Amino acid sequence: MATLTKPVQIKVITDDPALDRTIRAFTDGMNFVSGIIFGFGKPKGSNAVQHQVYGDLRNRYGLKSQMACNAVRQVVGPYLALREQITIGQTVWQQLTFRPTAMTSSYHRDFTITETTLGITTLDGRKSYPLKMYDRARKFFDGSWTFGASKLVRHRNGQYYFHLCCEKEVSLKPIEKATTFMGVDVGQNYLAVTSTTDQKCRFICGGAAKNLHRVYSQMRKRLQQKGTRSAMRVLKNLSGREQRLMTAINHDVSRNLVAFAVQNRVDVIGLEDLTGIRTHTKQPRDDRYTHHSWAFFQLQQFITYKALEHGIGVLSVDPRYTSQTCPRCSHISKNNRHGRSFRCECCRYDLHADLIGARNIESRARDSRYTCELQGRLSTAHTEPTS
Ligand SMILES: [Zn+2]
Repeated sequence: MATLTKPVQIKVITDDPALDRTIRAFTDGMNFVSGIIFGFGKPKGSNAVQHQVYGDLRNRYGLKSQMACNAVRQVVGPYLALREQITIGQTVWQQLTFRPTAMTSSYHRDFTITETTLGITTLDGRKSYPLKMYDRARKFFDGSWTFGASKLVRHRNGQYYFHLCCEKEVSLKPIEKATTFMGVDVGQNYLAVTSTTDQKCRFICGGAAKNLHRVYSQMRKRLQQKGTRSAMRVLKNLSGREQRLMTAINHDVSRNLVAFAVQNRVDVIGLEDLTGIRTHTKQPRDDRYTHHSWAFFQLQQFITYKALEHGIGVLSVDPRYTSQTCPRCSHISKNNRHGRSFRCECCRYDLHADLIGARNIESRARDSRYTCELQGRLSTAHTEPTS
């Protein structure tokens, strides 16, 4: 089983001042909690913090019971993230402040929602507001989805949107029963190249996407060589229009790839592991934790989401040397590649160079099936004596 989560924004048709007052009180409460945590000198868990601040949040800030709990959680999270950044030397201990633009609500406890109406707890008690339903949001109300903690957000234009978190359980074939895998390689001469266990392949070129292509190439360099900031620099300079273009292209590419997977009865899609590279490679400290290209990350998110929708699992694999490794004998060398052709200097295996990455990612995904099985056995062996 896996959980499919999808955020969706729905416009709330209202200018009720009660909402503004509620968000402000909620944020004041958050900033109060923030001051308390800052005073601790280190983050603490929600329960420990809540114990100390609950009375004040209820009495001084007028928050309803569930709102008080949500306010604590919405502050504890960023402090935990701050600690991680401190651990890697990126920042120092500081007091976080929050602007009055959003309030988290829990499904059932302080909000209910239908296709037409949002019911939400405010300082004035439970209130209902009409929604402007978009077509793309409608499908989440077909009864097969549940809702998680969501946010009421006041956008800069003063209008309210409900950022609804939609969830659905999907059943996946257990990895040990998977037979057909597919590797996705991104950003060489093509936007994406994919290859399955049955050696079916597809090349996606995307003529209009030269720019995305360039970013992916930068990304590739970053993944396979040392950490460079150039990819980030490229991204920082992108305009909103380019970003929207990339998002559209990523939707297109991911749809194409997943349709291909469905057509070829793929059980598991292998993608390059971005997090592994971020934390496990030996790079200069400055570069090690810079964020990845959001375009690449976004493409992976889209593929994962669309794959899960079709009951296809997704696995991350070690992305190192996927373009230089021989798929037959595993020999790794730059000399294996000559322009558009690949010829293993050890075993003489040859193949179209653009296919090598996808082929290797497919086989690494297939290999991790055995690692997963092994881990399964180990953990069983480990728990058996005690049960
Ligand atoms: Zn070889």
